[in-house]
Amino acid sequence: MLFRMDSQIACPTMSTAIDNIRTAILQGAPGEEIGALALPEAVRGAMVRADEQEMFAGLASEDKDPRRSVHIDEFPLPELAPDEAYVAVMASAINFNTVWTSIFEPVSTFGFLKRIGKESYWGKRNDLPYHVIGSDASGVVLRTGSAVRNWKPGDRVTVQCQHVDDQDPSAHDDTMMAANQRIWGFETNFGGLAEIAVVKANQLMPKPEHLTWEESAVSGLCNSTSYRMIVSRNGSQMKQGDAVLIWGASGGIGAYAVQYVLNGGGTPVAVCSSEKRAELLRAMGCEAVIDRRAEGYRFWNDDNTQDPKEWLRLGKKIRDLIGRDVDIVFEHPGRSTMGASVFVAKRGGTIITCAATSGFMIEYDNRYLWMNLKTLKGCHFANYREAWDANRLICEAKVHPTLSRVYDLDHTADAALAVHRNESEGKLAVLSLAPEEGLGVLNAELRERHIDQITLFRRFES
Ligand code: NAP
Repeated sequence: MLFRMDSQIACPTMSTAIDNIRTAILQGAPGEEIGALALPEAVRGAMVRADEQEMFAGLASEDKDPRRSVHIDEFPLPELAPDEAYVAVMASAINFNTVWTSIFEPVSTFGFLKRIGKESYWGKRNDLPYHVIGSDASGVVLRTGSAVRNWKPGDRVTVQCQHVDDQDPSAHDDTMMAANQRIWGFETNFGGLAEIAVVKANQLMPKPEHLTWEESAVSGLCNSTSYRMIVSRNGSQMKQGDAVLIWGASGGIGAYAVQYVLNGGGTPVAVCSSEKRAELLRAMGCEAVIDRRAEGYRFWNDDNTQDPKEWLRLGKKIRDLIGRDVDIVFEHPGRSTMGASVFVAKRGGTIITCAATSGFMIEYDNRYLWMNLKTLKGCHFANYREAWDANRLICEAKVHPTLSRVYDLDHTADAALAVHRNESEGKLAVLSLAPEEGLGVLNAELRERHIDQITLFRRFES
């Protein structure tokens, strides 16, 4: 069924080949040795199945359990395209898109795989009755396709999830504007929650030397997204002195947004839903913190009516905390908060949105937008340049991973459930070939200088 170049595969048993790869990486084998290792015919990965995509029909979102839909199974390693690399995945991470895929909301991802399958010979590999998921990874390059120039076997890498065809003219301004832009491991197959992942060469970035495999695996998607939303000219382009309301400030994208606002000389107004999270945010350096649960905001009276008095109450709370309105709102909960977000942004302010966790049919009072000359701006992941710059900040220990929990590959679905139920802070990592936590550090001196910030979320979790 799957295409494979015979020269790439020496057919040892699957576990022998994977064990040899793992051992070579853990022993720090040179690139030539890693490049000469035999590849397995099949590897293990976390996947959903096309024949189960209706399994949750009729259930409410909160009752859809990823433990029923995410399976750890073997799949044949597909042939490598000329612009791709096989990456031995030491660790990966859960993103909210792992949740969306596993509950088949808002749509089943098999439609994405069908679409890319129609595009080209290489695209066809994606269209399978299973979807190997995951949009983050840290690991080691095992093989590169014939057109890859900047990477070689043995390179220690992290992966950013923008998947784009650079032969399309629409990809040559901001690549996020490319007509065929996709999120790897969500809109494509062979993602990071596996023993070996297939990635385009222009998804690769250097692994931060002072971080472990699992710490390195958690930033690619969320850190790049927050960088674009806060820092980039393609996002809100925050300037020194700006105040930014950050919903879900201790969550996946929120905790990177907090760091960008603080680094850039801004004032975060950090929203969360528990005292534990409020404490964590204060430990990150946030002085203005709002516990939305303790405040008891009820922006919606019922499914169809919002309560502007509650928007006003939030606006007053912000003024009480920082003495003014916010310049930017970092928005992603969607339906539950957008009315309030549009209201509380200052005159001329920006509401930047990348998601709609609580519902995508949004309602807000447009009078507050136009009369006060506010901007509502859509934002999505990041181009390679932005992801690279965001990764460099991690490599230089100017932004830190927000790893709070570590799972193994067999427990991927438990990790996805925790994110689905809003039970975790920061990011959850999944160990794939790394046999335990704490491995992969090459720069112990840089690590030691920032150890408190690197381990902050992990310490709060334990
Ligand atoms: P996460 O780790 O689950 O964090 C989200 C946070 O939002 C939660 O911790 C929660 O914090 C808060 N929240 C959840 N529901 C809320 C509600 N109804 N009202 C107010 N706050 C709410 O998820 P994430 O990784 O940050 O992702 C957040 C969203 O962004 C997801 O929908 C995801 O798919 C999307 N996303 C989009 C992109 C993109 O490129 N477009 C990239 C990354 C993520 P508290 O309960 O503490 O307030």
